Amino acid sequence: MREEPLGEVSLRLLREVPVLESMRKHDPGGVAEILRIVENCAEFNRLHAEPKALEIDERVEMEPDYFDWDLARSACRYRLFSLVIPTVLGGLAGKYMLTAGALAFEELCSACAGIGNMIAATSLGASPMLTPGGMPHWDTVLHEMLEGEKKGEPVLMAYAITEPSAGTDVEEPHFLAHARLGMEARKVKGGYLLNGRKCFISGGKEARYLTVCAATDRNRPLETWTVFLVHRDMEGFSVPRVERKMGQRACHAAEVLFENVFVPDTNVMGYEGDGMSTGILMIMAASRGPVGAVGTGIARGVCRHFLAWARTRRNGSRPIDEPRIQMAVADMAASIQESRGLVLNHSLAGDAVFGKLLVNPLMKAIFALPREVRISRPYQSFLHSRHGKAMSARLLRMLVSEDDMTRLLALASLAKFACTDNAVAVASRALELMGTDGGEERRWVEKCYRDAKVTQIYEGTNQLNRLTYYEIEVGGGLRVELPSPR
Ligand SMILES: Cc1cc2nc3c(=O)[nH]c(=O)nc-3n(C[C@H](O)[C@H](O)[C@H](O)COP(=O)(O)OP(=O)(O)OC[C@H]3O[C@@H](n4cnc5c(N)ncnc54)[C@H](O)[C@@H]3O)c2cc1C
Repeated sequence: MREEPLGEVSLRLLREVPVLESMRKHDPGGVAEILRIVENCAEFNRLHAEPKALEIDERVEMEPDYFDWDLARSACRYRLFSLVIPTVLGGLAGKYMLTAGALAFEELCSACAGIGNMIAATSLGASPMLTPGGMPHWDTVLHEMLEGEKKGEPVLMAYAITEPSAGTDVEEPHFLAHARLGMEARKVKGGYLLNGRKCFISGGKEARYLTVCAATDRNRPLETWTVFLVHRDMEGFSVPRVERKMGQRACHAAEVLFENVFVPDTNVMGYEGDGMSTGILMIMAASRGPVGAVGTGIARGVCRHFLAWARTRRNGSRPIDEPRIQMAVADMAASIQESRGLVLNHSLAGDAVFGKLLVNPLMKAIFALPREVRISRPYQSFLHSRHGKAMSARLLRMLVSEDDMTRLLALASLAKFACTDNAVAVASRALELMGTDGGEERRWVEKCYRDAKVTQIYEGTNQLNRLTYYEIEVGGGLRVELPSPR
């Protein structure tokens, strides 16, 4: 069979990421899938993100509530909300799900990290549902999201863990044990009543579903931290305000309020009290690497705009002809390569871990069941029952080891802090060299700097991620514990 000629983006990617070229020799189909996904993101950038990015950034500064729904609708056409949903469930994530996802988010964020984060916020919100504890929601909530995407009506999601009194504290078990939480989930007949606030929730204003972590006993936060699935129409849920942010303005960070929000037992993901593993550490082990990819993409964007600026003649000469500019370009390229290498270390290790889930015979048998069976009342009741929860916990333990997850978290944290620090450094250097030049390219780089700065804060501050890496790889004081069947 004749191979399709490769597009411009694929050729660039194969040149810049040589590991893909060697993977291609053994698995041309798998790599073709990655290239297709990145080509798709590049087209979305060219036709939709790039023409709007500066305008949205400026508009949100004046009008903080503004959200570009048209752009979200365009993202549906490229299936960008399905990037992390496995193909067996109808999404785009194949056996190289983390690698394809990382390169896709790098590509999206090379145009605009705010727009990239608008898409990533939904992926992050959906992530707890992709753990075995989220199995009951695969054919209901995830299906609704995929159907919405097909129709061009985005069903957005958000991930809510941060509270006004606890940010860093909720992302690490030792800190959560002593956190002073404001929010609580009280057990009542048939479910839980959620009361309190979460803040800085990306996409929280527009999300139809939020995965929310809360303690059922604020005096024992670590032991009772639990993952809940909340629909925005549940009574008592509201969004009082959005933050005024310095960067990534295309994606709101919202404060969300819970006033006696009743969440049924069926919306608890996994077991009560397992939130630190299924709601935080397992999610972060997968998602912090992609934040590194966001940083890599921002640095690429900076470099592109910096080069365009440097090639323009002003006062009779071009900055690119000066050695100090040439050296800066070389340093930027080194920084981008270093970042991408760290992201790929994480994603390839992650694909080896999560790939096992997709090819496991039991998982295959579950995926092979017709949807009517999977949404039937007896099957759903089984998944929500003690036996169903025990089965999903056993399945997870059978397929993934705590050592693998812990190692993955270390690689993810390393990529997260190093790549986002690199992005800030690259943008800062470019701005210094561009001086007071007031042109369009400088506006882009200034926006990239602001976009980069916030990546150092979310998904665990870079200080926390350094401590996480240290604790796992050197101190030995942190381990990802998987839920045990009860
Ligand atoms: C743009 C943006 C988007 C976000 N999106 C989301 C989202 O979608 N969902 C969500 O739940 N949250 C989100 N957040 C919140 C984010 O996760 C928190 O801001 C972050 O965890 C830090 O918490 P904090 O702001 O309370 O800072 P704090 O925890 O108060 O930290 C303040 C400073 O102290 C340092 N520090 C704190 N504790 C320690 C320690 N023990 N050792 C060393 N240093 C420490 C921190 O590193 C930081 O420098 C977002 C934040 C931003 C800025």
